[in-house]
Amino acid sequence: MSECIFCKIASGEIPADFVYRNEKVFVIRDITPQAPTHLLVIPTQHVASAAEVSDPAVWAAVMEQATEAARFLNLTEGYRMVINTGAQSGQTVPHLHLHLLSGRVFDWPPG
Ligand code: AMP
Ligand code: ZN
Repeated sequence: MSECIFCKIASGEIPADFVYRNEKVFVIRDITPQAPTHLLVIPTQHVASAAEVSDPAVWAAVMEQATEAARFLNLTEGYRMVINTGAQSGQTVPHLHLHLLSGRVFDWPPG
């Protein structure tokens, strides 16, 4: 059994607040939101990070669903997509995920 928290969410072993799912990706609300809207777009198949993606279809599914979620939620004021990759970036869960953040002004450069 995988010890990966997002694999456990994908299999239903632990609960999450699902916004959407299909066979390739699922979208959940982040448990510690950093903005009024904070979603995670996660491929169902385990890939440790952006650096480990070998199949471009994974990117297609993640990016397509991220923009679709932004349309569905009517995030017309704008949003930020973040993919932390590796230790120095702040990645804490070693299963690829895209943060979709919206509902406030975001600083640049990021912290
Ligand atoms: P990162 O730091 O980029 O790896 O992002 C991991 C994200 O996963 C953080 O924003 C956490 O708040 C979030 N997270 C961790 N566990 C859960 C969970 N069980 N359900 C929803 N989000 C989670
Ligand atoms: Zn996983």
